Amino acid sequence: MANCPACEAELLDDDYTDMEVGDQVDCPECEELIQISGLSPLDFELASDDEDDEDDEDEVHDLDDEEEDEEDLDQ
Ligand SMILES: [Zn+2]
Repeated sequence: MANCPACEAELLDDDYTDMEVGDQVDCPECEELIQISGLSPLDFELASDDEDDEDDEDEVHDLDDEEEDEEDLDQ
């Protein structure tokens, strides 16, 4: 068992047996994007594409799939 690095929710190993280190998943509790950093034991870290400002921009960037409402603002 591992814990979400964002909300400390318990994440069951059985849910991630097909995953590999580096795979990114959404925490089922807080929906934060987290990344598998180890498999034995299972461990997670916060996923971040941006190495520069780790704390500031996590929630601003990776929303491409979910920002359906804002694409037509120019018209
Ligand atoms: Zn979480």
